[in-house]
Amino acid sequence: MKVFKFGGTSVGSVENMRTVMNLIADGNQKVVVLSAMSGTTNSLVEISDYLSKKNKESAISIISSLEKKYYTVVLDLYTTDKMKEKGKRFIEERFTVIKSYTSGIFPEEGGRALLAQGELISTALFTFLMQETGHNALLLPALDFMKIDGDKQPDSFYIKDKLNAILKSHPKADYYITQGFICRNEDDEIDNLQRGGSDYTATLIGAAIQSEEVQIWTDIDGFHDNDPRFVENTKKVDVLSFGEAAELAYFGAKILHPQTVLPAMTNNIPVRLKNTMNPPDPGTLITADSKTTGIKAVAAKDGITAIKIRSGRMLNAYGFIKNIFEIFEFFKTSIDMITTSEVAVSLTIDDPKHLDEIVAELKEYGKVKVDRDQTIVCIVGKMIAEEKGFAAKVFSALEDIPIRMISYGGSRNNISVLVSTNDKKATLQALSNKLLNN
Ligand code: ASP
Ligand code: MG
Repeated sequence: MKVFKFGGTSVGSVENMRTVMNLIADGNQKVVVLSAMSGTTNSLVEISDYLSKKNKESAISIISSLEKKYYTVVLDLYTTDKMKEKGKRFIEERFTVIKSYTSGIFPEEGGRALLAQGELISTALFTFLMQETGHNALLLPALDFMKIDGDKQPDSFYIKDKLNAILKSHPKADYYITQGFICRNEDDEIDNLQRGGSDYTATLIGAAIQSEEVQIWTDIDGFHDNDPRFVENTKKVDVLSFGEAAELAYFGAKILHPQTVLPAMTNNIPVRLKNTMNPPDPGTLITADSKTTGIKAVAAKDGITAIKIRSGRMLNAYGFIKNIFEIFEFFKTSIDMITTSEVAVSLTIDDPKHLDEIVAELKEYGKVKVDRDQTIVCIVGKMIAEEKGFAAKVFSALEDIPIRMISYGGSRNNISVLVSTNDKKATLQALSNKLLNN
């Protein structure tokens, strides 16, 4: 059974929901994972932020406009009065829950429960639409099987057990509709797989049911060889290996949630990125071996902080790097890039939450310099780091750009450079012109 996932834009309007319905209703049994309608999760984040700042008026005003929007959707989406009434009652119910958070103290888990409403609404409305049209669709509540553990990692054993049991007890449906993004945590509270997490839901489900393929449908025709928001003339990449796709997603390619590839890679399930607005296009296939060597694509990740620790004590000393790493481990802050010399270590982090505490501790080991607003530009392709002359090409393409760090040889399939975010666009364009021949 295949898994199809549709993002926020794909279910972002009544018209698009109908397009999705027609696209999936081919009689083949499948699991369909949906995001919230586009914009909804952002509104829910805003509501939650206002409530935590005790600004009830602003929260209530966003809630009201969101509620109005959904009543309009319900009126347009269904043809029968019976379904319009059912949809209306459902929206009323969800908004009673949402509004309940505007009185009393706003609990910490309230934010996460609020964020879940977007997917709860989109999947129910979509399932009603399919049922009204005469399709055999069944809503599978993700909160019954999707779970993360204490480290916020998916509990794949639990997911596999629960989901397969649920499917076994409902063998007859053609289309199983479920929510992306949302899950329960170890305390059984409502939680989520981080922003953009519906992609991750899709491959987790794919792994749990040993799906033959996971299709991720968005509003662009696949992975591009560079960031189309910053660079002109990007081209679609036809095939990527799991490793290449994982690296591109992790290092900033917005089309996929960073962890999405992992469950697919572990279980060798092909992932196809498809365009809801252009279904005949084959999109991008992510599979075990992309076969072709050479550069595939470039991606950029912003919001990076570079930290340099300089110390004479590092000379010929062992244990120095371990001590430094332990500080990051203690603050649960992961390190992306690292370069060392005999007297200094430079590394990057993307989560500056504990930066001040980390820097205070690092100062015990030497002089510390922090550079914010950095961007990692990651160049990905099979064996590029072993291709003779490839590094020279990268450096000559970037001859006019000040490079803060370089990571070469960590993997054969990746070369990363750290540049100031101000130079990101120029870096991407130079690589596109000179390496990707666009
Ligand atoms: N609705 C969630 C978000 O906007 C999850 C997703 O769309 O993948 O982040
Ligand atoms: Mg997304």
